[in-house]
Amino acid sequence: MRFDILTLFPALFTGVFEESILKRAVASGLVTIAIHNIRDYTTDKHHVTDDEPYGGGGGMVMKAEPIFRAVEAILGNEMPTRGRDDPTQIILLSPAGRLLNQTVAYELAQRERLVLICGRYEGVDERVREHLVTDEISIGDYVLSGGEIPAMVIVEAVTRLLPGALGDPLAPLKDSHATGLLEHPHYTRPAVFRGWAVPEVLLSGNHAEVARWRRQQSLLRTAQRRPDLLAKAELTAEDREFLRWAVGQGLIEDTLRLGNKSED
Ligand code: SAM
Repeated sequence: MRFDILTLFPALFTGVFEESILKRAVASGLVTIAIHNIRDYTTDKHHVTDDEPYGGGGGMVMKAEPIFRAVEAILGNEMPTRGRDDPTQIILLSPAGRLLNQTVAYELAQRERLVLICGRYEGVDERVREHLVTDEISIGDYVLSGGEIPAMVIVEAVTRLLPGALGDPLAPLKDSHATGLLEHPHYTRPAVFRGWAVPEVLLSGNHAEVARWRRQQSLLRTAQRRPDLLAKAELTAEDREFLRWAVGQGLIEDTLRLGNKSED
């Protein structure tokens, strides 16, 4: 898979792709990451990439021309023609885009090439959004000063989903959000730390019991922290029974309106 990142601040990417999983993914050829300076695609003497907004108001707007020229030069005859179905996607990072989540990360991991356009200032000329990009993504409901960190987030979230990126290929399937639930807690040695003991079941060696405990913890954690996720999750009869019990114990609120067993 290939990532092309368009930015006015290439130096921000120094180091981030040179450690750990991303470093290995690059070294093994699983991913290629190319950083392009949008300023290199200007045609004027002063390499201007932004200008005042039409209609007035504060701030500057990134000009359309250098961004179009950069993307067209980088993609050549690989310009996407099939919109969101195309193996090549041109993504504008924007707080007004669709929200990145694990489902979107999986969707992006199916592509062959992602061009990521990092905005700055007040954002980019609207014609980039209207006539160049195939997708617009936000990493959350807050505003950063630039699209560089969102681009790094996408590279990281997508790369770890590619087959071969992680030592344990099944790890992403168990992560929070992959299953629709938050993941269960983890513990490692020592078994007792400052008097706080690891739950006994994890030391039991009983794999079925451990799996059951983990599922229950995952359900509890999701119910306590993200009832919105629990409402959308696929739950078995056993899950519902456990949640009903947890409601009865006062561990969680009955946000699913589980009622009593006879209502199932
Ligand atoms: N005026 C814009 C608005 O209100 O939507 C915000 C512009 S922001 C200061 C500058 C750039 O940072 C954006 O063009 C975008 O590329 C990036 N950015 C900021 N927050 C982001 C977010 N939550 N997700 C993705 N990109 C973001």
